[in-house]
Amino acid sequence: MAFDIEKIRSEFPILNRKVNGKPLVYFDNAATAQTPQPVIDAIVDYYSNYNANIHRGVHTLSQEATDKYEEARLKIQKHFNAKKSFEIIMTSGTTHSINIIATGFAEILEKGDEIIVSALEHHSNIVPWQMLCERTGAVLKVIPMNQEGELQMDAYDQLLSEKTKLVFTNHISNALGTINPIEEIIKKAHKVGAAVLIDGAQACPHIKPDVQALDVDFYVASAHKIYGPTGVGMLYGKEEWLNKLPPYQGGGEMIKEVTFEKTTYADLPHKFEAGTPNICGGIAFGAALDYANAIGFDIIETKEKELLEYGTSELLKIDGLKIYGTSSKKTSVISFNIEGIHPYDIGVILDKLGVAVRTGHHCAQPIMDFYKIPGTVRASFSFYNTKEEIDVLVGAVQKAQMMLR
Ligand code: PMP
Repeated sequence: MAFDIEKIRSEFPILNRKVNGKPLVYFDNAATAQTPQPVIDAIVDYYSNYNANIHRGVHTLSQEATDKYEEARLKIQKHFNAKKSFEIIMTSGTTHSINIIATGFAEILEKGDEIIVSALEHHSNIVPWQMLCERTGAVLKVIPMNQEGELQMDAYDQLLSEKTKLVFTNHISNALGTINPIEEIIKKAHKVGAAVLIDGAQACPHIKPDVQALDVDFYVASAHKIYGPTGVGMLYGKEEWLNKLPPYQGGGEMIKEVTFEKTTYADLPHKFEAGTPNICGGIAFGAALDYANAIGFDIIETKEKELLEYGTSELLKIDGLKIYGTSSKKTSVISFNIEGIHPYDIGVILDKLGVAVRTGHHCAQPIMDFYKIPGTVRASFSFYNTKEEIDVLVGAVQKAQMMLR
């Protein structure tokens, strides 16, 4: 498909709106990406035509909803190249997916076992593991980062040992955009017999991961970062791991037989899918993957790289502006501060000018502590953004600087 930016932008209705009387410039894609019309249509279609509970009903609507929901699971399986469809667990998002694994490992870890996290994590890939350590007596070790915002891989080598049971890191950092060397992380962890969980929340809008080629044990993501709705996501787990781990929640859907004496659990994937799921969200997640794949991840990557390069060089022309996260391997996220100005104050003025960015610690406080800053302004670009919008951002930042100095 040829890349026609005007056509693509017309497929995202929200990009037409005004904010504070100015055309919206949406640069908060790393927090949540916008939703194209085919995904909105899938949501409307579900509630207009076949809203019903799944997997149980004998009636037509229930059957239609079940078919579409399971079709979405197959789309997710294909997208991530999982070997089996039941290795895809539908969840409410990355946070839920991580908690399923962290809670399950409470039955596997023993006192003194070690688990390794990276310094670049989102809180959702730190806190569940700390809770796991509290429950089991396992020890949390951290791969340190350097000034460029990259992981120090020689330190990782030193941390790995036969005590290491699990390693978890994000594929791409939400706060800095760094692309982590997950292939190397996975290979080295497997050499000492540790399992690996990769948090793909920030990678999936930009990259199409292949879980079999990566040989990763668990890979997790949220639909809302990949042009889908909020409140739905996925957990990929290797079959043998998912069979080994206990269910996360008890309830309907996840059982084979229930008596007051004993309950047996359903097979994969239902063992991890208690209760009525986000049926519409799951179906729309499938539609979002269809949309992104029709554009093509090679094109998405190329367009976003152009925006990153242009944005970086234009923003660096501003006096006193410092970018955090300067790895040569990064995606379209620019985290920055201006000397002497609090990031929040810049964010407020940018909003008045129609420019949406995120300010603060980006749920990654350890990174902010490393740089000894309270937070940053984060502009994150998607393939539907333009260089003209970056010009608006740069002008707005200059204006904010003038007003706040
Ligand atoms: N990990 C990373 C790297 C993220 O960027 C996010 C979302 N900001 C999450 C995890 C959590 O995702 P969710 O809130 O959709 O569960």
